[in-house]
Amino acid sequence: QVVSKDAALHNDQADPALGAVVAPPGASAPEGSFVSRMMADNPYFSAGAGLMGIGVVLASLRRSIRLGATFAQRRLLVTLEIPSKDRSYPWFLDWMAVNAPQPNPAEGRTSLRSLLKGKSPMALPSHELAVETNFKQHENGSTEAVFNLVPGPGTHYFRYAGAWFQVKRERDAKLMDLHSGTPWETLTLTTLASSRHLLASLLSEARNLAENHIEGKTLVYTAWGMEWRPFGKPRRRRQMGSVVLADGVSERVEADIKGFLGRGKWYAERGIPYRRGYLLHGPPGSGKTSFIQALAGSVSYNICLLNLAERGLTDDKLNHLLGLVPERSFILLEDVDSAFSRRVQTTEDGFKSSVTFSGLLNALDGVASSEERIIFMTTNHLDRLDPALIRPGRVDVHELLDDAHGEQAQRLFTKFYGSSESGEERVWREGEEVLEREEIERLGSQVKEIVDEARSRGQTISMATLQGLFIRSSARDGVSGITRLCQGN
Ligand code: ADP
Repeated sequence: QVVSKDAALHNDQADPALGAVVAPPGASAPEGSFVSRMMADNPYFSAGAGLMGIGVVLASLRRSIRLGATFAQRRLLVTLEIPSKDRSYPWFLDWMAVNAPQPNPAEGRTSLRSLLKGKSPMALPSHELAVETNFKQHENGSTEAVFNLVPGPGTHYFRYAGAWFQVKRERDAKLMDLHSGTPWETLTLTTLASSRHLLASLLSEARNLAENHIEGKTLVYTAWGMEWRPFGKPRRRRQMGSVVLADGVSERVEADIKGFLGRGKWYAERGIPYRRGYLLHGPPGSGKTSFIQALAGSVSYNICLLNLAERGLTDDKLNHLLGLVPERSFILLEDVDSAFSRRVQTTEDGFKSSVTFSGLLNALDGVASSEERIIFMTTNHLDRLDPALIRPGRVDVHELLDDAHGEQAQRLFTKFYGSSESGEERVWREGEEVLEREEIERLGSQVKEIVDEARSRGQTISMATLQGLFIRSSARDGVSGITRLCQGN
């Protein structure tokens, strides 16, 4: 009786939903039904089972979302990686600074709203910014610092040609670019696969922007470890007419270079290395460097400046660098005499350069590259140079850029005090007397006479000194200044 009552009681309390099996009175219950009963009877068990179920469902949901996202990313998104070593890296950052500028923080909210409305400018305000300082050169030659806000390390968003892009700028704390000493960085650009064609146009826009920036300018590269890097910002081209050389020198060298540049096929057909070497020698301040800059500008070339006495420059490195000169660049080895005056490479502080004389000759003759190569060397002391260095094949054109000749000084004088060739009037100093053209010409002839007369006495004056004098004085004072200088007081 008691048993059946108990069983009835169990039966009443059992949740039919959990399917508890009711054993007939007196019968021994099987193992399974005992466990089921335990679970059914215990509220903790049932709640746990429920939670577990939810957990399993959530976990698989999460997994499928992740799988779906990966699938979507593979199928629907496209990613482009630009390592900091690549040339397009700075181009792209500059492009972003110009085309997707960071909104002014004070107007952050408004910009966001205008952005979502689809208005330009086209970047979502970001909290991770970096500054890039550029120098803008004005027409009068003065420079002004311009600050560009570029995306800093982090994630940024911008819109280009109607499509959204994500930019991730990541910095690797462990990897360093040994040449520049900067941390290794990567930019990852992500967009919808349907906009993948925009990546190429975006990159070429960035390249064009960089090229426009240097168009009409001369870039000076210096050696950074094993590679050439632009040194400073591109400089305005120096006009040929601004360097006043002895009669015919400038025209001769310019014509030679232009002739050489047009004969690539001729050299190739004869299997002759397509190279030309120029040596400009003469006293300091005669315009050697300025003339090379003007020549580079005249043929739209850049300049790779190499200091042979530089510490750490070895024969191998020199060879490597000369083989890697950027396109359309002159190689300029300044003051070659100081590095190899007597085949002993010692600088003033007693440091021995590790480039050997034979190493330089090998690098100059190098068989490694058959590409066009134009080398300029300058020296203040021709007599100190080893004949092996300047023999034909290594140096094809020698030119002396001397201290001022009378006629040269006269030309410089008229350039300074007459109206300029481009028609623009020169800037008059305050209180300066405006002289008639005839008067300028008369003073110019006087300058010529003074300088020639001094030369005949063996007293010379450099073009740099004349320039310095003309910059600070009026025409008449300039003439009396030259007279004083030529009298040696
Ligand atoms: P170098 O390389 O022969 O020592 P630079 O080219 O460095 O001389 O000239 C030094 C300065 O003097 C420059 O500012 C340059 O403008 C001026 N200068 C020198 N020679 C001339 C020249 N022949 N014509 C015009 N300016 C000159």
